[in-house]
Amino acid sequence: MAEPLLVHHAAAPVEVLIREAHVLDPRAGIDEARDVLVRDGAIAELGAAGTLEAGGPDRDVEVVEAAGRHLFPGFVDPHVHFRTPGQEHKEDLETGTRAAAAGGFCAVLAMPNTDPVLDSAPLLRSVRDAARLHARVPVGFVPAITRGLHGTELTEMAELRQEGAAGFTDDGRPVVSAGMLRKALQYQRLCGGVIALHEEDPSLSGKGAMHEGDVSAQLGVTGIPSISEATMVARDALIAGYEAGRIHVQHLSARESVEALAEAKRQGVRITGEASPHHLCLTDEAVRGLDTRMKMNPPLRTETDRQALIEGLRSGVIDCIATDHAPHARDEKEVPFEQAPMGTTGLETAFAAIYTNLVLPGVLDLDLLVRRLTDGAALFGLPTPRVAPGEPANLTLIDLEREWVVGDGGYESRSANCCFDGRTLQGKVLLTVAAGAIAFRARQLEVVR
Ligand SMILES: [Zn+2]
Ligand SMILES: [Zn+2]
Repeated sequence: MAEPLLVHHAAAPVEVLIREAHVLDPRAGIDEARDVLVRDGAIAELGAAGTLEAGGPDRDVEVVEAAGRHLFPGFVDPHVHFRTPGQEHKEDLETGTRAAAAGGFCAVLAMPNTDPVLDSAPLLRSVRDAARLHARVPVGFVPAITRGLHGTELTEMAELRQEGAAGFTDDGRPVVSAGMLRKALQYQRLCGGVIALHEEDPSLSGKGAMHEGDVSAQLGVTGIPSISEATMVARDALIAGYEAGRIHVQHLSARESVEALAEAKRQGVRITGEASPHHLCLTDEAVRGLDTRMKMNPPLRTETDRQALIEGLRSGVIDCIATDHAPHARDEKEVPFEQAPMGTTGLETAFAAIYTNLVLPGVLDLDLLVRRLTDGAALFGLPTPRVAPGEPANLTLIDLEREWVVGDGGYESRSANCCFDGRTLQGKVLLTVAAGAIAFRARQLEVVR
């Protein structure tokens, strides 16, 4: 028997009655005010608004008056960087999962570009043990495809799967060798596990620090062309199709990549893709001030690219939203733009950024946003959170009216390199229940007993 994919520090199961929240769960077909009673960490009852009671005096049930607030299935992020082991000054499993919970996430998948790289069964066992002690929300780990991310030698994929690998990725780097990817897909046939790909051709991206286009030309900053990503998406889709393998394209950023993904899907390739909140909300115009928080890989691209991502998300060509939460220490980011490391944090702002920038202006439906913030689960074989009786309680309660300034009052993450820092967003997470326990509670949440 293989190990379960998700591990965390199990806290006391919650007993809570969330009264009169507007429950929106597109999969359960619910979009109205309800009472939700959680007992022993599971959803015990869904009643009409104002009808459920907390139960007998023997039970210590907390009551949350949530009229006017929204209750969603907990979000799932298949792409985060938690820096354990080796770079805990940026983030660790405790702070990373605290940031996840504060963003309404009830499960996340951590990438392997740690120090050392997560590329062996003993290392996987040790980070999973650490997660059992420190993770507030369930975490899955996605070990490397190749040893040390060097691209030359496959990891022991079958053994890693036995130890609970949720998939494989060399994220941070592409699998440059087509032959290596082909070999990985042949092993995948034996052991399963989605192969997630950071698509970039280093011979095209070179020393680029931002999107190659008008803005990079005006700034005189070396650019990363869209074809660096798109050619690799097209190549890898062909390889996956040939091997009947299953691949997932990480952090899509360019219109041409979305087109390559759509074409591969039309051809019947078993391929899925994700987009990040920053690529959905921002463009390379945000890089004009050379703010290093706007430096990420792949880079923010043009309005045309952003529109293609939004359309892909809407049509389902892009399957889910993933934050690519990438914490970096302040001193590492406080250097000239070209020298700064790539990456932005994103767990605490994912929902609010997209809600503010795309849902409020009428570009995306709230219903679709909730779907795409949970659709990542099934792609990696994780259970999809549902607001239904008998299900484990994975819930997020959000005040859609509340405005907040990102970074005011700090972050739950150990790092502050958030591309939305200083912006006013609407939609504040008040409560997150993950795997049946309270993982986050905002100070603003009023509780009545
Ligand atoms: Zn990446
Ligand atoms: Zn990443």
